Amino acid sequence: MNALRGREFDAVVVGGGLAGLAAAHRLAVAGRRVALVEKRDRLGGSSAMSGGWLALSGTALQRTAGVADSDALFLADMVATGGGFADELLLQALVEHQARAVEAIDRAGAWTDELKVSAGMTVARAHLIRIRDLLGFLESEARAAGAVIRRGCAAHALIWDGERVRGIRSESGDLTADAGVVLASGGFSRSRELLELFVPDQAGAMPYGGLGSTGDGLRMGWMLGAGLADIGHVAGTYGQHPETTDDEHELLTANYLGAILVNARGERFADESESYKVLGSAVLGQPGGMAHQVFDSVVRARSRPGVPLSDMERIDDLGHLVSAPTLTALEHGLGIPAGRLRRTVELYNESVSGRTEDGFGRTGLVNGVGPLVPVAVPPYYAYSAVTAMTSTYGGLSVAPDTSVTRVDGTRIAGLWAAGEIVGGFHGASYMTGTALTKALVFGIQAAETILER
Ligand SMILES: Cc1cc2nc3c(=O)[nH]c(=O)nc-3n(C[C@H](O)[C@H](O)[C@H](O)COP(=O)(O)OP(=O)(O)OC[C@H]3O[C@@H](n4cnc5c(N)ncnc54)[C@H](O)[C@@H]3O)c2cc1C
Repeated sequence: MNALRGREFDAVVVGGGLAGLAAAHRLAVAGRRVALVEKRDRLGGSSAMSGGWLALSGTALQRTAGVADSDALFLADMVATGGGFADELLLQALVEHQARAVEAIDRAGAWTDELKVSAGMTVARAHLIRIRDLLGFLESEARAAGAVIRRGCAAHALIWDGERVRGIRSESGDLTADAGVVLASGGFSRSRELLELFVPDQAGAMPYGGLGSTGDGLRMGWMLGAGLADIGHVAGTYGQHPETTDDEHELLTANYLGAILVNARGERFADESESYKVLGSAVLGQPGGMAHQVFDSVVRARSRPGVPLSDMERIDDLGHLVSAPTLTALEHGLGIPAGRLRRTVELYNESVSGRTEDGFGRTGLVNGVGPLVPVAVPPYYAYSAVTAMTSTYGGLSVAPDTSVTRVDGTRIAGLWAAGEIVGGFHGASYMTGTALTKALVFGIQAAETILER
């Protein structure tokens, strides 16, 4: 840190996840003097733990796969997913600038061929990228261009000179910046205090996300009168085993491949094709706050090894996939009262065959898309999962250029924010992949805004 003292920077970036690295990278390659501080001893934050799915429209991969997507459909799906609560100006800016994300992924060579429909989408728009390759590329190019990157250095306050933000205070001293500060310190999924304050009904979710996600930047913004957006909609994600360790990724959404969800009594309770955030809240209300994903060998064969959210091999290797030759044996193994699971599956299979209407309105695999399959071909499987607070999609209010705005809508001079710390993009629910896309697109946008000054 001493190497930083006394040096003047154009900008200081707080947080070394995708948003912070994207901002620092863009500023450094444009020749600006930039310092990035990261409070943990390694970079990456929640971004490095993530599944690596990015929502993008009009990509080469979609064209090759014959997917008919458009910017207008992407926008319409996000607006619908947000239930009318998301800020459309921010969503428009995301769609408009997504080409910057595509370019960064191109340059990092981080694409895979995986493309799928996931939560909130009406077409296949979730692109799997090698997220660690992208983070590594941004870091190494930023360093090569002169960015100063410090690990183990937590910012704890913003320096305000009466007119604008001029830098940060940290345990190791002050760091000043002529243009100002980009807050990219992630969400508050690891702060029980903030979760209890904003969304007490979600406080029972398993704490997850990067260990640095304690809402530090959010508090720094408040100190200067920043507004908040989407906070009341923060919700946990369903699909994680209760024994998952801190830095593992063990989310499975077999329901999007055809599984049903049943509670400890063996009863269904929701339309399994809903967003895993909506299901997260539903599962918190079930006995023991858990639900089993129950499926047969047809769905088991749809597993995609190495593909987050669909990788049953990995779950099996971890010893978290239960299997049995009959439904009776499965319900016994899960401790479900005798006969209940079999009855639930019979009712479900009748609705899949079209003889009855589904009691929960399920008409497709995910978001209403994709033909349903009965749970009928042994052996049978179950993955028992809880709701985890992986990420908090509410936070500081911002303008589309990433300027942090006050409660009254005016801009706080010299303060920008990008990534999970920001609210307004998701509204009531979440489309898979939009968190990483927004971190990358608006991390770059924060830098562009500073460069335009
Ligand atoms: C298991 C899991 C799977 C996910 N999968 C997906 C997915 O497939 N697609 C998707 O779109 N989203 C996904 N998400 C969400 C997504 O990963 C995050 O929303 C996104 O990565 C946030 O990026 P960020 O740069 O804003 O924050 P982060 O990547 O969390 O980075 C913030 C950094 O700031 C640091 N920091 C915090 N406070 C300070 C401080 N005071 N001083 C200095 N540094 C500080 C933190 O330590 C951290 O390194 C997932 C999340 C999890 C946990």
